[in-house]
Amino acid sequence: MSINVENISKTYDTQKALNKVSFKIETPEVVGFLGPNGAGKSTMMKILTTYVSANEGHAEVNGFNILTQAKAVQKSVGYLPEHNPLYPEMYVREYLQFNANIYGVEKQRIEEVITLTGLAPEAHKKIDQLSKGYRQRVGLANALLHNPDVLILDEPTTGLDPNQLVDIRALIKTIGKEKTVLLSTHIMQEVEAVCDRVIIINKGEIVADKNLQKLREGNAQTVIVEFDYRVEEAFLRRLPKATAVKNTYGFVYEITFSATKDMRSYVFDFAHDNQLKILQLNQKNTSLETLFRELTTE
Ligand code: ADP
Ligand code: MG
Repeated sequence: MSINVENISKTYDTQKALNKVSFKIETPEVVGFLGPNGAGKSTMMKILTTYVSANEGHAEVNGFNILTQAKAVQKSVGYLPEHNPLYPEMYVREYLQFNANIYGVEKQRIEEVITLTGLAPEAHKKIDQLSKGYRQRVGLANALLHNPDVLILDEPTTGLDPNQLVDIRALIKTIGKEKTVLLSTHIMQEVEAVCDRVIIINKGEIVADKNLQKLREGNAQTVIVEFDYRVEEAFLRRLPKATAVKNTYGFVYEITFSATKDMRSYVFDFAHDNQLKILQLNQKNTSLETLFRELTTE
């Protein structure tokens, strides 16, 4: 078992940050810890990395108790905090070397994490010369130095530009093939892009824990189709299992189906049989978005 959290509660002075939080992560997978700002994501992550102590409940990381085996927990988790603390005046290699010494990690591992995180072309530079995307890579390389089984990443893509975002997400996905990754985010699309599973937290309480694949297979499916000319909505309602049709703009239509299989080929055949020309045809997963909205708004 990688992470086991049971009834963890945390109050700062009078502010309740976590209320009886429980979840389990058993196998290597990328789990999104999704919630609005102030939901308690960072607090939970600080508790799991032993930086903050809980008031109630217990948790294990890699089978080690966070309270009684804190050192062992720290050895088996890599942590990228929300505000990635780096020494801007240090060179990338020097910084990693510095932390490798603290962890007692072999020199060879530094080159391994540099390669793994795609830092090689920038490794000779000073940290303050790096773009935000490369700084996040340094943070990830640092978290991976001692080769932990579990990675805890607190909003790892916040502040990145769209290209950096894509690169860092791809990197996290690659790492997640071998390690358990718990990553927090307030962005739903991030969960869609990188996670196998989502745990939604709102106001300190877990409100959902779902497998993304299962969520996608849920029976609400929307297909977006653009024709080269106007089509009557009522006509499109004749598609098998279509429950709603909406003309969103121009000749673009959103068709909702109550079906688990991909309905795009039916739309294609329907268009062909009725001499309609398709300009674009896409599938949209609305289930996570709906779930998140329902669970995190008043
Ligand atoms: P998230 O990471 O989901 O945005 P946090 O865990 O940072 O949420 O915060 C959860 C709640 O705890 C918020 O209401 C926040 O204001 C409060 N909080 C977080 N850290 C502290 C602290 N050190 N002292 C007092 N309140 C805090
Ligand atoms: Mg936070």
